[in-house]
Amino acid sequence: MRLKDKVALITGVGSGIGRESALLFAQEGAKVVGVDLNPEAGEKTRQEILQAGGQALFVQADVSRAAEAERMVKAAEEGFGRLDILFNNAGISHAQDDDAIHTTEEVWDLTFQVNVKGVFLGCKYGIPALRRAGGGSVINTASFVALLGAATPQLAYTASKGAVLAMSRELAVIHAREGIRVNALCPGPLETELLMKYLNTPEKRQRRLVHIPMGRFGQAKEIARAALYLASDESSFVTGSTFLVDGGITAAYVTPE
Ligand code: NAD
Repeated sequence: MRLKDKVALITGVGSGIGRESALLFAQEGAKVVGVDLNPEAGEKTRQEILQAGGQALFVQADVSRAAEAERMVKAAEEGFGRLDILFNNAGISHAQDDDAIHTTEEVWDLTFQVNVKGVFLGCKYGIPALRRAGGGSVINTASFVALLGAATPQLAYTASKGAVLAMSRELAVIHAREGIRVNALCPGPLETELLMKYLNTPEKRQRRLVHIPMGRFGQAKEIARAALYLASDESSFVTGSTFLVDGGITAAYVTPE
């Protein structure tokens, strides 16, 4: 029960990391406010939490819209009385995201709206709520691509995750003396919908796997466990970190055969 009596707002609970984190956080005693653009998927996660005996609300919202981000935070405070953990996790990876020559302005803008502005707005409305609760933990999902370049380009996505990493670091410094910790969670490539919809052939998967020392993609559950650590008081001296959970990808030059 590492999150006993804590209220956790998690965005992107309809799938992947957000979904696994919502289930795990609830299992560890948190009251979960799940947010997603997709109402069916988000409601399904909520139902699973309730069936397991946990407590959860679901709020359908687009994190890139200020009024909706404000509403999701309000729902946490009205529903469960406070906010202790803010997990800005929702993000997109656009199918037409490419290199500088081929990425359109529309794809660039949409990616930044969700991945960067969405995290900013979560913090804009969420941090005052954490202050009202006397402190808390913010986890922003960046990515290993904030640190590594790839010749399989997704330029808007990569730049957006660099922005999340830099934003999280500065927020950590600003709020360090208020009992608010801010960390950037940087997952390696995962076997979730976001990535697997593109890596639809063994060749495409192998093009990536050769660079991962562990020789496999990560599971959303493995990232949820790292998020649980950052959310809980066990990480009480961890703030401003680039929290890599990447199967060793950022440590590698030549990987094992
Ligand atoms: P996913 O696609 O499985 O799930 C993302 C969820 O976010 C979906 O349920 C979707 O409906 C929701 N969402 C999308 N846009 C939204 C919006 N505007 N408002 C509210 N909800 C919205 O993705 P995932 O793999 O679990 O990724 C979660 C986070 O982890 C993202 O920020 C992603 O960039 C990051 N990440 C993923 C990987 C990977 O390999 N999958 C690696 C590093 C980082």
